Amino acid sequence: MGVQKIKIISNFNIIMNQPDNKGYYGTFGGAYIPEILHGSVERLKAAFDEAKADPAFKAEYYDLLKHYAGRPSPLYHAKRLSALYGTNIYLKREDLNHTGSHKINNALGQILLAKRMGKTRIIAETGAGQHGVATATACALMGLECIVFMGKTDVDRQFLNVQKMNMLGAKVEPVTSGNMTLKDATNEAIRYWCSNPDSFYIIGSTVGPHPYPDMVAYFQSVISEEIKSQLQEQINRNYPDYLIACVGGGSNAMGTYFHYLNDERVKIISAEAGGLGIESGETAATIHVGTVGIIHGFRTLLMQDEDGQIIEPYSISAGLDYPGVGPAHAHFAQIGRTKVHAINDDEALVAAFELTKMEGIIPAIESAHALGVLKKEQPNFKPDDVVVLTVSGRGDKDMETYVKRIANNE
Ligand SMILES: *Cc1c(COP(=O)(O)O)cnc(C)c1O
Repeated sequence: MGVQKIKIISNFNIIMNQPDNKGYYGTFGGAYIPEILHGSVERLKAAFDEAKADPAFKAEYYDLLKHYAGRPSPLYHAKRLSALYGTNIYLKREDLNHTGSHKINNALGQILLAKRMGKTRIIAETGAGQHGVATATACALMGLECIVFMGKTDVDRQFLNVQKMNMLGAKVEPVTSGNMTLKDATNEAIRYWCSNPDSFYIIGSTVGPHPYPDMVAYFQSVISEEIKSQLQEQINRNYPDYLIACVGGGSNAMGTYFHYLNDERVKIISAEAGGLGIESGETAATIHVGTVGIIHGFRTLLMQDEDGQIIEPYSISAGLDYPGVGPAHAHFAQIGRTKVHAINDDEALVAAFELTKMEGIIPAIESAHALGVLKKEQPNFKPDDVVVLTVSGRGDKDMETYVKRIANNE
C-alpha cells in the first residue's frame, strides 16, 4: 500500500517541473483520450507552446494577475504561529486573491489561451464550486459563454457558489450520474467535450490529459515565483527550508513548489486529505492508499478496487475529495522528492481554529490540511528554519462546517 515507502531521491539533474514530450512525469501522466479529441488536444498543445513563447501573452496575463486578481499575494510572517511551533512560519496568502483562492490564477491563464485560439464557448467541471466560480468570473470578464458541469449532490450542498455562477452568467449543468459529485461532473464535461470538440475545456487542477497538468502548473507557478522574490526581500535569502501545501489535484501545491523542485536545500511536504483516517476506508488520501490506474485521461495513483472500479473518496473538504491525484505529485512522492502526510478531518479542523485564533485568518478547510502538517513536523523544525506554507483559500465557503464544529464542542 502506498508508494511513499520508496525513498530514493535519485537524480536532481532531471528537470522535475516539466513532463517529457509525451506528458509523463516519471511513469505518471500521458494523454489517454478518445480519438475524437485528438485534434483538439494537439491544437491546444501547440497554442500553449506558442503562447508561452510570446512576450505579449505573458504581459497580458501578468497585467490581469496584478490589476484584476490582486497579485502579488502577500507572504506574511505569522509571528504568533511561529512562536507556537518554535520556528519561522511564512504564509503565502492565496486566500486574498479575487474569488478567494489560487484557482483564479489558472482560470485567467486558460481564458487568455481560449481567446487566443478564437474559442467562444468555455466548459468546466467543478466540485465545491470554487473552480466553477473562477471560470465563470473569467468568462464574464471576457464576454464568453460558460457551461459548468457540477454533480447534483454538490449543487445542493454548495448552493451559494451555484448562485454566484448564475449571477456571473454561467449555465450550471447538474450531473445526476454516479455519486453525483466531482468525478461524475468531470466524466460529463469530457463527454460534452467529445460531442463539442470546438469548446475550450478549462480544467481546474494539475490533472487531465497532457498538456493540462503542465499548463495548470505553468499558470500556478507565479506562486513560487513570488515566494522567491518575497523571501529575498524579507529575509535576504530566496529559498525556504520547508515548503508545505495541500494536495487535491495538486495545483496550488505545484505552484508553490514549481521553482524549488530541483533545489535540494528545500524540503517539500504535501498534505492530502485523510478523511476519517487512511485505514478507515473513508479517506481521500490517494497517495497513501491508491494504486496505479487511469482516470480522466491520465495515468496516476487512484483509489480503486481490484476490478478497477473507483472507490468513492471521502473528506470533510470538497476541494480535496478526488479519487486521483495530479501525475506530478504521484511521481514526486514515488521518488521521495516530497513527503506526504494524510491529515484527517479532525486534525484539519483543529488547525483551522488554531490559525483563526492565533493570526486572525480563517482558512479554507482545504488549506487547513496544510496547516495540520505543522503539528506533525514540529519535532523536525529548528529555531532558524524558514517554513513557507500556502494558504490556498479563504474560509467563507466553509463557515457551515466550522459553525457545526463549534456547536458540537459546546
Ligand atoms: C480547489 C482547492 C484546492 C485543491 O485543489 P488543488 O488543485 O490541489 O490546489 C485547495 N484549496 C482550495 C482553497 C481550493 O479551492
